Amino acid sequence: MQVGVPKEIKAAEARVGLTPAGARELVAHGHRVFVETNAGSAAGFADEAYTAQGAEILDSAEAVFDAAEMIVKVKEPQSVEYKRLRADQLLFTYLHLAPDAEQTQGLIDSGCVAIAYETVTGANGGLPLLSPMSEVAGRLSVQAGAAALENVTGGAGVLLGGVPGVPPAKVTVIGGGVVGTNALRMAVGLGAHVTVVDKSIDRLRELDELYGSRLTTLYSNTENLESAVTEADLVIGAVLLPGAAAPKLVTREMIAGMRPGSAVVDVAIDQGGCFETSRPTSHAEPTYTVDGVVHYCVTNMPGCVARTSTFALTNATLPYVLQLADKGYKQALTDNSHLAAGLNVHKGQVTHEAVASNLGHTY
Ligand code: NAD
Repeated sequence: MQVGVPKEIKAAEARVGLTPAGARELVAHGHRVFVETNAGSAAGFADEAYTAQGAEILDSAEAVFDAAEMIVKVKEPQSVEYKRLRADQLLFTYLHLAPDAEQTQGLIDSGCVAIAYETVTGANGGLPLLSPMSEVAGRLSVQAGAAALENVTGGAGVLLGGVPGVPPAKVTVIGGGVVGTNALRMAVGLGAHVTVVDKSIDRLRELDELYGSRLTTLYSNTENLESAVTEADLVIGAVLLPGAAAPKLVTREMIAGMRPGSAVVDVAIDQGGCFETSRPTSHAEPTYTVDGVVHYCVTNMPGCVARTSTFALTNATLPYVLQLADKGYKQALTDNSHLAAGLNVHKGQVTHEAVASNLGHTY
């Protein structure tokens, strides 16, 4: 199959859909890989790194779309991109169609077959193509929180790990899923005093088993949230209600009850956020202050560590890219029901129930 990797054009996106190592695997399976010039440069992958693995560099996005039977990307296609898609083409990328009627219509009009990373399911539950980015965001949230606690950002000037004779900072992580587990792992590693709050007793049990006395686990109710938030130097919001907006678990009063110069990182901001005081920010201006508390609410956190994120993404997507390229999409989806769960639009028809019901399409 001819596989195309265009340069991402969404604002501030530095990731790329395939690493050179991924290109090598595809070439070894007998496929041709066309990469737009400089597609990987912002993530540290020069054109030569791709050609060294057998990929071919093309000088424009148009040329890549023209040559490819399957387009492998990171972000949802922008309007100029979905207008380039053809009826005989396969698109494999993050789509997030439910809130995006315009893009959905663009994909329908193109007649292409669009498979969304975020709805591919895992054999053991979960969403295997979403979790690598949650892992990145979770680990990054502690770095972001540590920076927010520094004086220069408006923070109280607190070091997470403390030093001998000075106690460590208190970090509260709300939600002990993929993001929360990666966040608390970093916070524990830095020597902070860490509390995780979740409404799943089973999850708290697992975390208690893993971390023992290095972690305090708390059941999520208003009383526990109030104390865990107001006593913390840093609160990380990492809750998810699948398919729904994040619950506003932390009220403005709780934020006002935190010590001035404390910080919150709302990783769930891409689902609306779990702090009443959250509003989306960007990497260019990541923080703002409410009631003396520094807020970091960047919606696309993995974008600022594009190299790590691209490696993590290709690690997760490549097995599916290979199945699609080796077998063709029909056979690949027939053989793998988890990959079939990723099918969102098929030749002019929305094929994902949640996307269809959200946008009023027939399904
Ligand atoms: P996940 O499903 O693995 O974990 C969510 C956890 O929240 C679960 O353990 C669940 O029990 C818990 N939870 C649900 N309701 C709760 C409540 N009332 N109180 C306490 N805990 C509760 O999800 P995830 O992959 O960890 O993602 C978490 C959030 O991070 C999502 O909103 C996701 O979209 C977001 N995210 C954001 C970025 C970014 O760049 N900002 C990147 C990746 C993920």
